[in-house]
Parts: sequence; structure tokens; C-alpha cells
Amino acid sequence: MTGTNLAQSGRIVAPYVTATAAEQDLKCSLVVRPGSLGIGYAQELPGDRDHLGVLWQKVAERPEEGKPEFARVHPARQRRAMYELLCQVCAGPADQTSDGVLWLLRDHREDWPRWPEGMASVEPPVCARCVAISLKRCPALQRGAVAVRVRSFAIVGVRGTLYRPGMFAPTPIAASELDYGNPQIRWLVAVALIRKLRGCSFVPFDELRDAMDVK
Ligand SMILES: [Zn+2]
Repeated sequence: MTGTNLAQSGRIVAPYVTATAAEQDLKCSLVVRPGSLGIGYAQELPGDRDHLGVLWQKVAERPEEGKPEFARVHPARQRRAMYELLCQVCAGPADQTSDGVLWLLRDHREDWPRWPEGMASVEPPVCARCVAISLKRCPALQRGAVAVRVRSFAIVGVRGTLYRPGMFAPTPIAASELDYGNPQIRWLVAVALIRKLRGCSFVPFDELRDAMDVK
């Protein structure tokens, strides 16, 4: 399986979306596009933009090399997992039933009464087996996370770095999350795709654990 962080034994050593130390940002000169129509790469390729024309951060893709850096998410793999609804851990299909697609989220039920209803998420979904394995390996997760079925998960925008025209080259001004409909998105270099989660219902962990029969 190319593109997954698998050790030779076939065991998952890091989630699919986790970047490794060998996967650094590629140096690409940013330029203001003619007519101040936003930013682009000096030597831009068609694959540098997504299906809606937004520019993405270019990062080396060598998941088999270097140590996993668990705090870093690989932009291309996050985008692929989120866009195709792949499990963010194993890159297989995310779990889906008639109640929706499965997400594992940090528990923020205190944030608002019907959390996570309407939440904008950069976390791709998961498969039930990877939830079960994670719970087995990390009991703390059971107290700090929730499994949620999501009926509607529209792609709404991206997270990234917003730029403005500078003296010599575009200048970064802020980390930002923008909807695809926002004209400022032409000034952004994206690092993560955002879906809006609606029609959410909680799934007891026991249900997943039993369903998957993880030994
Ligand atoms: Zn999985």
C-alpha cells in the first residue's frame, strides 16, 4: 500500500495523515498573479490547485521515510482522506452506515448545547476498526474523545495561510479558515480541507468495540 505509514510488519506505526520528518515543505516561490488576481507559484503545475482552483502548500511525500511527527498533518494526505472519506489512520474507506459516516473527535460537548452539530472539521473520518484499536491502545482516549455518526458532511472551505501583496513577493499575514465562496481565498495557500458536520449522533464506544471484535 503506497502512501500509508506502514512498517514492514504491516502494522500501522502512525496515522496516514501524519507527516514524517522526511516530509518538509517544498520551496516554491509565490508570486502575485497578473491583475492582482491572488497568488500562485512561479512555476505552477495544474496539480498545485484543488478541484475548485485553490492553491495548496507543496510538501514532499515520503511516508515511509523519517520518524512520524505526530503534531504535523500532511496537507496532500489530509486532503485526500477528507475528500475521498478515507480513514485518517489506515487510509481504508471510513466506516459508513445508514446513520452516516464515522468521526472520532476530541470531546468538546461543553462548547455549545448541540455540539458537534454544525462544526467545521479538519479531521478526516475513521473506520470502526481504527477507533477500536485506538481505544484499546490508549484508554485515556475513552475519556477525552467521542465517536460521532455524521449524516451530512459538505466540503465548505480550507485552512491555510493568507497572504497580501508585498514589496518583492506576497507576504504572509495570518493563519485563516475560508469558505470556498470567499473571494479572499485566492490569497490563501491551503493546508487542510474543511467539512461541515451536520446530522450528528453519538455512538457508544462499546458498540464499535463489539462490532469490530478487536483482540
Ligand atoms: Zn482505519
